[in-house]
Amino acid sequence: MDMTRRLLLVLAVLGVLASIAPAPGVATATPATSAPVVHLSHPDGVAAGAKASSSGALYRFQSLLAGKPIRWNPCTPIHWRFRAPGAPAGALPMVKKAVARVAKATGTTWVYDGAMWSAPTTAWLPTSTKNIRPVLIGWTDAAHSDLLKGQPKAVLGVTRTAWFSTTRDGKQVAAIRAAVIALDQTDRLPLTGSVSWYGVTLHELAHAMGLDHAANSRQLLYPILQRGLTDLQSGDLQGLAKVGRQAGCVTVP
Ligand SMILES: [Zn+2]
Repeated sequence: MDMTRRLLLVLAVLGVLASIAPAPGVATATPATSAPVVHLSHPDGVAAGAKASSSGALYRFQSLLAGKPIRWNPCTPIHWRFRAPGAPAGALPMVKKAVARVAKATGTTWVYDGAMWSAPTTAWLPTSTKNIRPVLIGWTDAAHSDLLKGQPKAVLGVTRTAWFSTTRDGKQVAAIRAAVIALDQTDRLPLTGSVSWYGVTLHELAHAMGLDHAANSRQLLYPILQRGLTDLQSGDLQGLAKVGRQAGCVTVP
């Protein structure tokens, strides 16, 4: 990376919420379980920017249901795939390390299903619970992924999740079932260290787990990635724990 740039990375929230509201309840003849409804998270952008200082919330959740974060079921394995084309040399071991780091922080089990060639796009995300696919992580560009298309030039990557909701025996249940992470192959960063692809991948994986940006600038989930941060920070870890195994299993729609 060009160290003369002296740029810090802004992890900006971009795009609009594309969720589909659950259908209103029917007063009579409501089935015990309605068809799960899919919701897509905000596409999350990672960009270059200026340093900032803030002492706000250490972590935040993307979506809540009855005051609790919507998250994966941490009691079953999360499958993932790596997009090989476009990745920097040596990227796969780095991504595996980031996945292992987030798996440990959440108490979840991640299973690598192998490399593939599909570009990470919104189209990768399932539209129903019948076509759930592994989390896809990889490098691409604005010409091949809607997640990067139209983003500011400084954006490094974008994450989007899909969660489903339904009513089961009169109770609303919801869970994240899929995620896609698109990293911009036209950007040049070191694989690890301060302001690196490793830091960006950890940041994006935390979004994939259901965390939103932190308001505290000393966290990796802050919208501006501060120079010197090479790993998840205390607030990031607290947030990840709350969407992980220690919060209990989740009934999946
Ligand atoms: Zn972000």
